[in-house]
Amino acid sequence: MPLIAKSPYDLRVNLGRDVPETDVRSALASGEMGFLHSFTTGSTLDGPGVRVVGWTSGCHWRCLYCHNPDTWTMSNGMPVTLSHAVEELRKYRHGLKVMSGGFTLSGGEPLMQDRFVAKLFDAVHAMGVHTALDTNGSLGKRLSDGELESIDLVLLDIKAWDPDRHRHLTGMDVGPVLDFARRLSEQRRPIWARYVLVPGLTDDAEEIAQIAKFAANLGNVERVDVLPFHQMGQYKWKALKLDYTLAGVEPPSDEVVERACEIFRAAGLTAH
Ligand code: SF4
Repeated sequence: MPLIAKSPYDLRVNLGRDVPETDVRSALASGEMGFLHSFTTGSTLDGPGVRVVGWTSGCHWRCLYCHNPDTWTMSNGMPVTLSHAVEELRKYRHGLKVMSGGFTLSGGEPLMQDRFVAKLFDAVHAMGVHTALDTNGSLGKRLSDGELESIDLVLLDIKAWDPDRHRHLTGMDVGPVLDFARRLSEQRRPIWARYVLVPGLTDDAEEIAQIAKFAANLGNVERVDVLPFHQMGQYKWKALKLDYTLAGVEPPSDEVVERACEIFRAAGLTAH
């Protein structure tokens, strides 16, 4: 299947439905094939410079504000062999270097396909292209220390601090995320932390201050991106017949976003 650039905001389902379950399982085990929801070029939002971004399918979290719920199911993604992905990325390598950019894997949760991710980053890094992993961090232990060396930057989502709030928001525990952040700190691997600001859900100043303190103490967080909640994914929830609970929530105002940035800055971090 050709890798054609598509927006992650397009609804995409069943692209991999013809791949037999046994092939999916062996692809996940070997990393010789992955599943991509979409593939974009020219992004300036997913790491430094201008980037090619692969959006993987598969995520075991259920964030209330997820704007790509069509990435939750692995078989919604298009199957792509590792060699084809490497070959495609090779075409962009000179341009990406000139634009001080690189290659980012986002999702979904890329580490649902940890073997594919590790092998792809290894190959792209060997081309001299900057690599970034955008992850919720919960499956970080699937990567060895050696594999982390091929990842120049981790875009780590920290969604909440309070364990109950985190579980309410994502359906999962925050502990493994924080453990991965600490490990990246020990390995001196750079992090850009990402925090989605949802009015009434994640705009509590105390909560943000706790995350800011944690992030500042890590010593490897180069910047924090405060991402304002938006409603661009709402139509996907409806199309997939999922129960969306944030329909009445407005995006935060610029002032509220700036206030959150100030809390991170007060802890000594760079925040945008
Ligand atoms: S971790 Fe990301 S892809 Fe997964 S449910 Fe949350 S927002 Fe969606």
